[in-house]
Amino acid sequence: NQVDLLKGSTIMATSNESSGKSLVDLGPGGGSGVERIKLESRHLRGRLAEDLKDSSTPTLSPGQEQLIKFHGIYQQEDRDARQARKAAGVAKEYNFMVRSRIPGGAVTPEQYLTQDDIAGRFANGTLRITTRQGFQLHGVLKGDLQPTIQSINEALLSTLAACGDVNRNVMACAAPVSSRLHSQVQEVAHKLAMHLAPKSGAYHEIWIDGESVATVETPQDESEPLYGDTYLPRKFKIGVAFPGDNCVDIYTQDVGLVAELDNEELVGFTVLIGGGMGMTHGKAETYPRLATPLCFATPEEVVEIVESIVTVQRDFGDRTNRKHARMKYLVEERGIAWFRAEVERRLGRFLCAARTIEWHGVDDHLGWHQQADGRLFLGLWVENGRIKDTPSIRLRAGLRRVVETFSPGIRLTGQQNILLTDIEPGDRAAIEAMLAEHGIQADPDASGNVGRHALSCPALPTCGLALSDAERALPDVVRQVEHDMAEIGLSGEKLSIRMTGCPNGCARPYMGDIGLVGKTRDVYNVYLGGDWANTRMNTLFAPSVRLEELAPTLKPLLVLWRDEREDDDETFGDFVHRVGPDYLRSAGAVSQSA
Ligand code: SF4
Repeated sequence: NQVDLLKGSTIMATSNESSGKSLVDLGPGGGSGVERIKLESRHLRGRLAEDLKDSSTPTLSPGQEQLIKFHGIYQQEDRDARQARKAAGVAKEYNFMVRSRIPGGAVTPEQYLTQDDIAGRFANGTLRITTRQGFQLHGVLKGDLQPTIQSINEALLSTLAACGDVNRNVMACAAPVSSRLHSQVQEVAHKLAMHLAPKSGAYHEIWIDGESVATVETPQDESEPLYGDTYLPRKFKIGVAFPGDNCVDIYTQDVGLVAELDNEELVGFTVLIGGGMGMTHGKAETYPRLATPLCFATPEEVVEIVESIVTVQRDFGDRTNRKHARMKYLVEERGIAWFRAEVERRLGRFLCAARTIEWHGVDDHLGWHQQADGRLFLGLWVENGRIKDTPSIRLRAGLRRVVETFSPGIRLTGQQNILLTDIEPGDRAAIEAMLAEHGIQADPDASGNVGRHALSCPALPTCGLALSDAERALPDVVRQVEHDMAEIGLSGEKLSIRMTGCPNGCARPYMGDIGLVGKTRDVYNVYLGGDWANTRMNTLFAPSVRLEELAPTLKPLLVLWRDEREDDDETFGDFVHRVGPDYLRSAGAVSQSA
């Protein structure tokens, strides 16, 4: 019973003491290097303030590049320039990526314009929509970090906890289809984001005050009541899905909440745990995993239950090996029954059983749609999430003009697209005309049936972990596959391709019809067989395929699909999953390995 649950509590000594002293056991080796950096950081302060004042170097001092991630910033370099600069005997070209945390991807028109201003003033002139509904700015110099973060904060946005070993941006279905219910789902995302944000004053001191001296000590009365001194063992991701529409890739989240309605009333959430995409090539002990059901939570208890889940990972997650530190390994290795019991002990009550989830698919929300209040929203396709101007499509300029003129609400989606919301029906024609002036098509079909559903991460030249290109390579692959599909009579069929520059899986490549995962420069592992509701992972079909061989490798498989699918509704991923990779190979669809 409930009392026994409390009596039997075996909660580990944790770091949520008001003293702020960590009691987390970092293991015999004292934990990974990052654990030590967190512990000694005085709640994310470290030497960051000092480093920012040091104009003699474009970089941070050793270890601080780990700490600054908690502030939403990555130190990066232009990897394209690396060889030439080395040959010329000059240092690497360092700059920073700045990511804003935007729960549910919802920003005001003013906030959008601020991000756009900063992109032009301090970054590389582009805005990137992340696969978790945030904004990323690339190419910011160290000396410009402070004004960048201050501008973002003045617009009432934050970069705190957009990266780092904490709960990151909370995803939620972005579409305002049913005003009340969708905003309830969005509200839960906001509540969770606020509740799970670090409480340290370091962010304010370093970025907003700016005058705080670098030697500032941790204030005596400051604590991190949830995270303690060492925060979480690894990043933590939460998504909230609207019933039936898996547009937030719910099974890839550490915690996925699937809303349930009864007579158009929100009655609660089925809680899934232990999803995650990252893996390492050649290390079988690392793997992507789909989240599994834990319980059902009412709207009133959902924040408390999620907090308890976070504390289990905080206390039991692996702090000695960062490649084994995500919560998915804890769930997989200890089992869902153990995890449930641990959460129940912390809550002092039993959890309700998870309910059955039904999906109708994934809605990308592109094109014109009516909102419940009679107004309209327009979903615009953004190739690879990059808002930029090219000679033929001036997406950044066109969006800016529309936002300045019509002040629509802005929502970023998990497919890296943008929704313009709350549009008066009478403004539709003028908005379409304004977009067309800039070469932007409001019709989602213009993006092509493969391009529309493609996802990629930034990879080279900015990401320090990238083994190969993704954002720069995917458009040509998509165009070739679309061309091939037209040639073999499949131009009306949809296909999803997701490409990443390494196996960490930021664009969730293991969920697409086709996943292309960078292995070395211009060489990819090809995964096949995901489904359109994002409930099934694909599997490795061909290792080490050269970039130029990707489309030729896929073409015979597409021909087989055309000729042998059970009916017109059988998608490519479903076909591959049904017949299996061995059949594909035996049928002559042999890959071209590098
Ligand atoms: Fe970088 Fe890899 Fe993530 Fe792509 S998937 S952004 S290459 S870490």
